[in-house]
Amino acid sequence: MEALLNYFETIPSHHRAMIIVGGLTFFWLLEGIMPLFGKPYKKWKHALPNIFFTITTILVNLPLAFLLLKSSDWVAENNFGILNWLPEMSLWLYAIIGLFLMDFVGAYLPHLIEHKVKPFWMVHLVHHTDHNVDTTTANRHHPLESVIRYTFTLIGLLSAHPFPWSCYISPCRL
Ligand SMILES: [Zn+2]
Repeated sequence: MEALLNYFETIPSHHRAMIIVGGLTFFWLLEGIMPLFGKPYKKWKHALPNIFFTITTILVNLPLAFLLLKSSDWVAENNFGILNWLPEMSLWLYAIIGLFLMDFVGAYLPHLIEHKVKPFWMVHLVHHTDHNVDTTTANRHHPLESVIRYTFTLIGLLSAHPFPWSCYISPCRL
């Protein structure tokens, strides 16, 4: 367990990039070979605008990820957050609670708000207006969505003080 945590805490950037790009490419190809729905569409033509949105998401996320890393360092140095206030427990339990808090505050909550509050829905609509849903739809986001997600991820980080790896595993995607 500690080796796994250590890997994700010190994961080289090119490993992370390979996992993301490799996973997306693998599933995009798999969908082409074995589509869930029979309706054919031009996968490359469909992918181009979504790749554009992926690039804009990366460009917006890069500086935000740097700020998140600095915030994570500050939280760790100052022993801030809910996990620090809990009684002593096993590493597994810390990991599960940290991941839950990070996922709930950093991913579930902003997604729920984006569906319930109209101005946020107008931003999130970009993701849900894809005519054909495939792997590339996962990164089809308005640039402002990154800012919304970042804000909630930062709140999750400040409130939970989870392990840094939970940022990689949870869908905060920074
Ligand atoms: Zn949604």
